[in-house]
Amino acid sequence: MPDGARPQGAPDVARSGRGPTRSVAASIGLGAGWLARTTRRGDGVQIAGRVMLRLSPSIGRRLAAGRRVVLISATNGKTSTSAMLAAALRAGGEVVAHNASGANLMPGLVAALAAAPNATTAVLETDEGALIQALRDLAPTVVVLGELSRDQLDRYHEVRALAQRWQGALSGTRATVVAVANDPNVAWSVEGVETVRWVDLQLPARLDTASCPACARLLEHAASGWRCHGCGRVQPTAITTVQRSNQVAINGTTIGLDLGLMGAWQYANAALALTAVDALGLEPRAASVAMASVREVANRPTRVALDGTHHAETVLVKNPAGWTALVAELAGREPDVGVVVVQNDRTADGRDPSFLWDVPFESFAGRRVGAAGTRAYDVATRLDLAGADVVAVDADPLVVARRLASAGPVVIAASYTSFYEMVRRVARGRGRRANGSSAGVQHHVAASVSSDARRPSMATRDSEIAIGLIYPELLGTYGDRGNAVVLRERLRRRGIAARVVEVAADDAVPSGLDCYLLGGGEDLAEIAALDRLEHAGLRDAWTRGAVVVGVCAGLQLLGSRVLLEGTLRDGLGFFEATTEPGPARCVGEVAIDASDPTLGVLTGFENHQGITAVGGSARPLGVHGDGREEGILGERLIGTYLHGPILVRNPLLADRVLTWMVGPLAPLDDGFEDKLHGARLRAVARAKGASRTNRLRGRLREQLQ
Ligand code: GLN
Repeated sequence: MPDGARPQGAPDVARSGRGPTRSVAASIGLGAGWLARTTRRGDGVQIAGRVMLRLSPSIGRRLAAGRRVVLISATNGKTSTSAMLAAALRAGGEVVAHNASGANLMPGLVAALAAAPNATTAVLETDEGALIQALRDLAPTVVVLGELSRDQLDRYHEVRALAQRWQGALSGTRATVVAVANDPNVAWSVEGVETVRWVDLQLPARLDTASCPACARLLEHAASGWRCHGCGRVQPTAITTVQRSNQVAINGTTIGLDLGLMGAWQYANAALALTAVDALGLEPRAASVAMASVREVANRPTRVALDGTHHAETVLVKNPAGWTALVAELAGREPDVGVVVVQNDRTADGRDPSFLWDVPFESFAGRRVGAAGTRAYDVATRLDLAGADVVAVDADPLVVARRLASAGPVVIAASYTSFYEMVRRVARGRGRRANGSSAGVQHHVAASVSSDARRPSMATRDSEIAIGLIYPELLGTYGDRGNAVVLRERLRRRGIAARVVEVAADDAVPSGLDCYLLGGGEDLAEIAALDRLEHAGLRDAWTRGAVVVGVCAGLQLLGSRVLLEGTLRDGLGFFEATTEPGPARCVGEVAIDASDPTLGVLTGFENHQGITAVGGSARPLGVHGDGREEGILGERLIGTYLHGPILVRNPLLADRVLTWMVGPLAPLDDGFEDKLHGARLRAVARAKGASRTNRLRGRLREQLQ
């Protein structure tokens, strides 16, 4: 609940004379929130706001009228940026409405406004999707836009698509927009805005910024910023620049910062907050002192008691960009610091944890780690294949943390719902297992066997197997990198030398690789990839005996035709197939009955707009529960819509691909991949309402025995 959000705050609204509807709806809503809190059904903010919006859908407009509203949105950092801005404004004597607990959907925004009727300014952290409605309903004075990167792709879909929705909603706004100049998607989204104050965070190029959001050409990223050689767009000139980690220059004045929040990335958030302060007509230097006093936001970080003597530092991590920053921070800590990685797959966490493959967990190699959450086996597999020492796996993060705590300090890094579940358990003084958190994960403690010890002794081949990961910055949006890693590791465990060759989009595709992997990507990135692949000689390599695997965008490109951005283009022609945008995006967990019975049931996660009609006599990879065919299984060729990554989740399929490269292989049954496969099959078997053919049902039963 935001500061001062007590139900008794509401009656003031009536006194302010802004109309009876607002008063009644706001009072009832705040009352409902108070009730929810006292009966321990959450912190009440969402409920309060939902009741208000139900009673009066236009309440936001009335609650915002006559005050300065600042909306803050980004993939990461919006809670911290808002907290620093609110602190700065309060220090300047303003009464501020603020959704400090991080309730950033429309209900949270209206609840924060209603709870502080005397506030002259509102500082509202806003969910990236909710920004569209908030812009319309709350008529903001200032909008702060930080970086966008992949996050909960099952909900927001792709980054450029989100930027496009922002562009439509921001066009013609009268607000002053504070925007990150480094992010080409954000820069593109504010092209219809009259007043923009640019901030240069001085960050290196990241995921999701490889191609131009306007014209699909590959962008050039240099120290001076990004540039498109297709349409001529360049990184805008900023008025605020992060100079060194602890210095920000704004309008030519340098301000030193000594922040109380952990993490180098907080200086980027501070630069955005200072620019917003400036846009509101306040003095940035004075504000910087108040910003330094912020030491904790929305209970983050939190200390969790594990038992009488041990504690764990607990942090929230939501997506690849957040994880990448945290991994860099943790890799700098002493080697005896154990890390518990917790991943749930509820709506607020994102239902597809494939993104764990975008995180450079390789810097945890040799470190003691644990895996927890509803997707503990996805985590364990990722960490194990990164070379970390996976000591414990359990749905309950505290069970795992206790095991690690005997050998040194512990950090728990948790996804959204697991983080707040722990905060609630701590608040209630209970360390016992959270309700329902064991779904799909049986208690299991891995014997601490190093990967070396697992390798059967086998004659080493003369030449190293080369596994090509093609254009990962364009065709790597959905975590398909894991397919390359699992192939390499399953060869190495059998004593066969193997390496992954990453082919960047501005490099030529080498012709002599043993395997070519094409992953999923956004529509415009897919066009950029197709332009290059046309001349890459992929079909020649395949004809000469190489293996080709295309996932999602990769599958679409391997077909004969693909309709992208309104133009029907020739694909690479590996098989007869046409892809066109379907009526609705297909998003969700999938299990298919493999057309080759020795491959069993295959599991994955799909997320795509395109629908592919396969012609000719191609054999499907498998059949969905409702009888639809999925993908292609050809001669040294796989095309499929399944992420997961598919070869990580389905070790039999991974071994089939390897057999095409190196001939018959001895089975490997001691990796986490098998446990992950079993966990996903159990999840499918439990899922309610899933349509299943008798055959798929029978196959599931067989495999689960
Ligand atoms: N952008 C393509 C589509 O939506 C492919 C998506 C993907 O690779 N997951 O159809």
